[in-house]
Amino acid sequence: MMQKKSKSAPYYNIGQLRVEYWNKLKIETSDLRRCHKGSTNEKVHKQNVRDLLKELKGVESFFAFPGKERIQKFENAFISNEYASLAHMVAETTRQLLGDSYKSNPDFIGFDEQSMDSAEEHEQYHSIRKNHFEVLFVDNITTEDEQKLKHSLRTLRSPGDKFTYDVLIQRSFQDAMIALLFNHNIQAVVIRYAPPYYSKQITPVIKPYAEEVLKHDFSSKSETDLGPFMGELIKQFRPELDTYYVTDTALGHLKGSTIKGFNRIFYQTEDIQELHLTIIRGIAERYNTPFFSALVEYSQKPTGVFHAMPISRGNSVFKSRWIHDFGDFYGRNMFLAETSATTGGLDSLLQPTGPLKKAQEMARDAYGSLYTYFVTNGTSTANKIVMQALVKPEDVVLIDRDCHKSHHYGLVLSGAYPVYLDSYPIEEYSMYGAVPLEQIKAKLLKLKEAERLDKVKMLLLTNCTFDGLVYNVERVMEEVLAIKPDMIFLWDEAWYGFAGFAHNYRQRTGMFTANKLYKKYNSANYRRRYNEHIRGLKNGEQSSLPDPDKVRIRVYSTQSTHKTLSSFRQGSMIHIWDEDFRRKTENTFLEAYMTHTSTSPNYQMLASLDVGRRQVQLEGFELVEKSIEMAMVFRAKVNDMPQLSKYFDVLTVHDFIPDKFRQTGLKEYYSKNEGWNRMEEAWEKDEFVLDPTKITLFIGKTGVDGDTFKNKFLMDKFNIQINKTSRNTVLFMTNIGTTRGSVTYLINALLKIADALDEEFKALNDKEKEIRDKRIHSLTKEVPPLPDFSYFHPTFQAVPGVPGGHLREAYFMAYNENNYEYVPLEDCLSIMDAGRILVASTFVIPYPPGFPVLVPGQVVSDQIINFMTALDVSEIHGYRSDLGLRVFTEKALNNEKPRTPNAKRPIEKKKKQLI
Ligand SMILES: *Cc1c(COP(=O)(O)O)cnc(C)c1O
Repeated sequence: MMQKKSKSAPYYNIGQLRVEYWNKLKIETSDLRRCHKGSTNEKVHKQNVRDLLKELKGVESFFAFPGKERIQKFENAFISNEYASLAHMVAETTRQLLGDSYKSNPDFIGFDEQSMDSAEEHEQYHSIRKNHFEVLFVDNITTEDEQKLKHSLRTLRSPGDKFTYDVLIQRSFQDAMIALLFNHNIQAVVIRYAPPYYSKQITPVIKPYAEEVLKHDFSSKSETDLGPFMGELIKQFRPELDTYYVTDTALGHLKGSTIKGFNRIFYQTEDIQELHLTIIRGIAERYNTPFFSALVEYSQKPTGVFHAMPISRGNSVFKSRWIHDFGDFYGRNMFLAETSATTGGLDSLLQPTGPLKKAQEMARDAYGSLYTYFVTNGTSTANKIVMQALVKPEDVVLIDRDCHKSHHYGLVLSGAYPVYLDSYPIEEYSMYGAVPLEQIKAKLLKLKEAERLDKVKMLLLTNCTFDGLVYNVERVMEEVLAIKPDMIFLWDEAWYGFAGFAHNYRQRTGMFTANKLYKKYNSANYRRRYNEHIRGLKNGEQSSLPDPDKVRIRVYSTQSTHKTLSSFRQGSMIHIWDEDFRRKTENTFLEAYMTHTSTSPNYQMLASLDVGRRQVQLEGFELVEKSIEMAMVFRAKVNDMPQLSKYFDVLTVHDFIPDKFRQTGLKEYYSKNEGWNRMEEAWEKDEFVLDPTKITLFIGKTGVDGDTFKNKFLMDKFNIQINKTSRNTVLFMTNIGTTRGSVTYLINALLKIADALDEEFKALNDKEKEIRDKRIHSLTKEVPPLPDFSYFHPTFQAVPGVPGGHLREAYFMAYNENNYEYVPLEDCLSIMDAGRILVASTFVIPYPPGFPVLVPGQVVSDQIINFMTALDVSEIHGYRSDLGLRVFTEKALNNEKPRTPNAKRPIEKKKKQLI
């Protein structure tokens, strides 16, 4: 294992560095203005301002706003000792930059109205709110030509434009790539000719944040290749951007990949206006929301309603004496947009041909799938649709047992045999990790040995998990496809919809990886590598590479858009990258979609999915990066403040992921002594990584359990909502709506809680202290072991001794009340000791953790009883403490014919079987 230390940096990212530097400059210039002329103090501040201006000039060369000209103005003011004006300008710029106001009001060339030079500036200042962005030009031009270019693009603006932009020039390949990494406001890239490779403007301050670019070396590429190559890289790294290539090479001489790699190719002789219009149109296309717009338009048309829905247009609401407050609360538009119409500009979700079809196609492009379907009943339904579409009774599905319950119910509906996979336990914190690849492969090989591999249809994993564990999707797919080349993957990305919009995350999504592997396996290069690999294998050894002649890429992912992106509750999507979809699955998929979809889908929800897609295409990169930054800031604060770290620990990568799954050795994102660790390498290589936006706080040292902390402390005292707790942890998440302010509020709340605990503990007498210490000991040391899946009772085994159980049969057997009885939990162990095998007749799902500890047909183990006894949660679905555990009667099990005549039963007691 590599034990290399990752590089660390003083700020998490360039955004944070910018915030800090601008704030410092603001304070320094303000101090400088108040200094006595000629004082030592003035000297110190002068030096500081000089240094900061120099550093910021380097950083700001990657942004069009505030821009070089403005920094030049600062420098001029500084040199001519106009400190008051300098302080004023810096304060104003900092305000615009941090408040993001520059994005809607672009042309603050002056810093307040008085200092504006031209009428044009005044007009712009008062112009309506516009969506403003930056266009990156990659071109090694002179400053003079730069001015000319900017000027000519500026003159093309017209007052009616919906969008405005500024031009950012970068003169080398490296600089352009760094700008794309740093600058969220770039929406389009124009590559003109062949740029030189190396940057000349990387300063030591910038360097740690530019590693992602600097670690590669493409300098050996010829200059003519570098432009098209950059286009390719951008498509991987920021696929949402529009890219344009300006060249002299005649069309006939351009490579096909170059032509396809750009949104459009321009010739130098073409009019600059054409380029301008194309840039604006590119943004307008992403901005377009076909369904939302259709709904808005529909709502503004006068209509008479002579079918269903009395609330449509608010008719039954606003005229009512008794419920008009309901209408007042939501406002008129909500009701104007409520309709059951599928015509008149609208569309039908069950058979879309108009704006919904278009909206889904746009989502497809945004999320990088081949097909995308909107789902209005949450990912709970999306999961059932995918399962029903792809598996039939008696097919085998490999599935992590701690996945969402919708999958378990989906298995009951489909009649498939689940082979349950166990995630590795993190016992100290009463949590599960994720399923190690070794285990998946071992199960598959076992099925292969039993000649059951042809029955295996699907591998279903949760990525990322609630707690933030992320699989190495590429490795899992590659090694599984090596054993079973036609495996279908369902990645439950309920918590991972945002992942497609930041590069680190995207590499571990189902859609990106499907696309990548498809290209890889169809390349001549891979075929060569595969043949070599096969030649090198010993007799009978399992290949770890898929056979390019047999492999099929069939990947599905389901995302709760509403959980991590902008959408109304229940808004969900199914993304499909299945090369056999049209041929093999489309019909069954549509049937399954019909099975589970309401004939009256909620239009507001569909419109929100459409708008949510627009958002991620235009600002996903920025917002996701910011949500990570907020999480990192929070991690650092808890770590750095002694009053917080006294009671709370943010669990680190190392706490969650055993060493053997961390090939790069990355242990934590932040530590007080070393600062920030870069996470890129771990995200490329490690078997598991931790999503930093999921922050698990260990609270064992407070003596309060997770559930109480959530309700009595966070909710009741501070109105802070969280979702998940374990015995001694609580989980916080940041998302694209998290603000600096909300992070500060949370930190303050935790500080107040820590202070209150101090007070409380001080006031304890000896006896109370003893009780408290016991409680802390219990929460930190006495954690109940987490149960593994035991095995299916032989009555319900698909094939004796081979993984896979008949869940559906067990489920429906319990519809006959004569087949089950209740056993009090406290009697279970003695009954089992006396030799009886207890078999669950229902799902038993405690909240938390929220997944079944027992499924119908599963044999009850000591471990499970101990776990249930130790659980201190009140909500356990499928179990009533007054009645006891609902198990099958012995008679029911004996009456039931084993599924295969030669099944042995009952098997030896308590021996753990891999079933
Ligand atoms: C929340 C969740 C679901 C269900 O999604 P809804 O949109 O709430 O129906 C499915 N899988 C996982 C892993 C989840 O966390």
